[in-house]
Amino acid sequence: MGRIVGHLDADCFYVSCERVRHGSLRGLAVGVLGNQGACVIAKSYEMRAFGITTGMPIWDALPLCPEAVFVKRDFQWYEVLSRRMIEVARRFSPTVEYYSIDEVFFDAGGMTPADARTLQRAILDEVGVPVSVGLAASKTLAKLASSSGKPFGCVSALGEERLRRLLDGRPVEKITGLARRSARRLAPYGIRTCAEFARADRRLIRRLLTKRGEDLWWELNGAAVLPVRDVPALRKNISRGGSLAGAVTDPDRLAAWVARNTERLVEGLDRHGVFCERLTLILTFKDGGVDQRRATLPVAAADFAVLYEAAVRLTNACRPQGRGVTYMRLIAEELTARRHAQLGLFDRPDPRQKAVAVVKRTINEKVGRFALRSGATLPLADVYRDEANAYDVCDIYGKTCF
Ligand SMILES: [Mg+2]
Repeated sequence: MGRIVGHLDADCFYVSCERVRHGSLRGLAVGVLGNQGACVIAKSYEMRAFGITTGMPIWDALPLCPEAVFVKRDFQWYEVLSRRMIEVARRFSPTVEYYSIDEVFFDAGGMTPADARTLQRAILDEVGVPVSVGLAASKTLAKLASSSGKPFGCVSALGEERLRRLLDGRPVEKITGLARRSARRLAPYGIRTCAEFARADRRLIRRLLTKRGEDLWWELNGAAVLPVRDVPALRKNISRGGSLAGAVTDPDRLAAWVARNTERLVEGLDRHGVFCERLTLILTFKDGGVDQRRATLPVAAADFAVLYEAAVRLTNACRPQGRGVTYMRLIAEELTARRHAQLGLFDRPDPRQKAVAVVKRTINEKVGRFALRSGATLPLADVYRDEANAYDVCDIYGKTCF
């Protein structure tokens, strides 16, 4: 007890980032569009007032708000500002945990609400992005507090009275880590608000929602169970993927997407210094079907050739012929740190493959991402020509892309 945790969350982050470099967007109804330019993935508060929601296609959004300004997303720029935000936060706290591109938790021991205001002001002045801040006795409470103060709020949930105000009447679905399914399980017991959850019998919560639910119960009661950590927990998986710019039926183009996502995945594995032992592929089809296949690799690997071959095999196993694939995700699982990985008795590292990987990495670091890439990606020349595709939210280091 006695710990103070802070949570900091940027307000309409992507829009705020666009406003940093395009000042004229301030005060306007601004929407940020996803990679194919079809859906609104972020919106300003001015745009929200017109009833436009995240995920809405642009053709539905425009009639609601004809004066809206839409911009294409640029995750590379958002990551730059994300890192600047963290740098400022680190001046105020010894422990800052990167939680997502626009959110951090921090150790706020010794910090008063006035200090939190100063931090909020510093981020606005130095980075240009408005954030909301929450201070509380646990991570779960701090996150609830910051979201209750949006936009540009600074909410302390320290002290009984403030805590009561935060939890009373707030739906349990607002608790991060408590899925809608869990909320449905709680409803028959009359647990619908955060306050009711906190007051509920702990053993009942454990029975209904297992240990994870019990952890949240403790957190809501002001006992910090989830630590704030500087170094992110070891990742369970790394994934790359996204929508395929329309429905893909051409097998060469599909193989090209497999190659592109494999190359991005290899970058991720390199960056984290890990091999993977298992690969999962998820394909979504135009007819609404979803197929998921998994393969165990012959050796723990991070080589393009090994992963690409496995990914192509998984793709073919989904029988995509003529169905129109709209979305693809590749997930590397069973990760092992490279320094710990053991070679099998019969594994012979292929020196030629290794050399190709080094050349590829070196050239791309010098000349630009994807400057040297697999010949299998040739059918995607149009995708590589569009600069907006050079960087995706999954490519942001530390971001879990789900
Ligand atoms: Mg945010």
